[in-house]
Amino acid sequence: MYLTHLECPRCNATYEPDRLHNLCACKSPLLARYDLDTLADDVQRSDMERGRDDMWRFAAFLPAAESDIISLGEGMTPLYELDGLGGALGIESLMIKDEGYNPTGTFKARGASCGISMASRLGAECVAMPTAGNAGGAWSAYAARAGLDCVIAMPEDAPEITMKECVLYGAHTYLVRGLISDAGKLINNACEKYGWFDVSTLKEPYRIEGKKTMGLELAMQLGWRVPDVIVYPAGGGVGLIGIWKALDELQQVGWIGEERPRMVAVQAEGCAPLVEAFERGDTESNFWDNAETLAGGIRVPKALGDFLVLEAVYASDGCAVSVTEDAIVDTMRRVARVDGAFLCPEAAAAVAGVARMREDGDLESDEEVMIINTGSGLKYSDLVESDLPCIDKDEAILPPGE
Ligand SMILES: *Cc1c(COP(=O)(O)O)cnc(C)c1O
Ligand SMILES: [Zn+2]
Repeated sequence: MYLTHLECPRCNATYEPDRLHNLCACKSPLLARYDLDTLADDVQRSDMERGRDDMWRFAAFLPAAESDIISLGEGMTPLYELDGLGGALGIESLMIKDEGYNPTGTFKARGASCGISMASRLGAECVAMPTAGNAGGAWSAYAARAGLDCVIAMPEDAPEITMKECVLYGAHTYLVRGLISDAGKLINNACEKYGWFDVSTLKEPYRIEGKKTMGLELAMQLGWRVPDVIVYPAGGGVGLIGIWKALDELQQVGWIGEERPRMVAVQAEGCAPLVEAFERGDTESNFWDNAETLAGGIRVPKALGDFLVLEAVYASDGCAVSVTEDAIVDTMRRVARVDGAFLCPEAAAAVAGVARMREDGDLESDEEVMIINTGSGLKYSDLVESDLPCIDKDEAILPPGE
């Protein structure tokens, strides 16, 4: 166990890690800090190349002790090339880290595994959160496994499968007429009233630690180096902040050098507060009114960790780009047809962002690009039109194209 304390990235206040914490007194999210010098003495990077077949292989960089771990086998997801689309875009190496292989079908499982492990260890009895859908599914599953009560509030237009997941895992689930930000206010009020532990995005410090493992893994999978560009569909931006934190920690223990990928945050034109802030050169975003995109995971009008996302984008010489709804749907279809991968619409937005960067001359053909497919497209089957002929048993099947 190398966790030493929690630290506020805004005012530098520190907190003891052995009790439940939400935000810093200054309202900033808190970040977990570790004794990385001792870790570097005790653990070698070759130790990481074997071990558990899930993200807890990286337990040295995580806050929970072995006996606290609530796991469903999350993490250690594959990397593969999108040769078809990469070729069409003139990119030599366009890679996917496919988080669709996780329990509950999205990378939210990583954050939930770590967050629930710690909430349970530190004595929470009931966790509560607003969600666009996928986090609700994941946290409900891990809460069930830990024997914790779980309260979920989600917009009434969240994907139906995620509602069903919450119900199936036994979470106390509400649909809200409004946005995720409205659901967040309702959860906040209920937590104050009933003493539940608020596990909203970045309101507790350990979800980001779970998501950080994406960065640890991808560096290991590339042979302890980083790609030139990482493209991330950003809602709350937790995954992007987590990957950035992971690379920083890997450098501090000497497992990678100081080279960093350009960090690119992609959003939808109908909800692009981070892009707008980036274009203004600002370090914080404004609340985005009337947020709208079919990619629900990135429909976040104002992220609590916006300043951390933008910090990583600026520090890495990255950028933030937005894409249209048509581009998202077209890209989802195109990647399926040419590369056989069913991306979630959020990741399709990220790929569309790569195409946009190529058009704008912001991406060289020899840059190695890694896209995080944050979830499986299988959770979004309603976005696929399948207008199929239905034939009688005495009719004939014709060759393709006829
Ligand atoms: C939650 C979610 C996102 C956004 O993740 P953040 O790390 O909060 O930006 C993207 N894609 C999918 C599928 C999600 O569920
Ligand atoms: Zn603070």
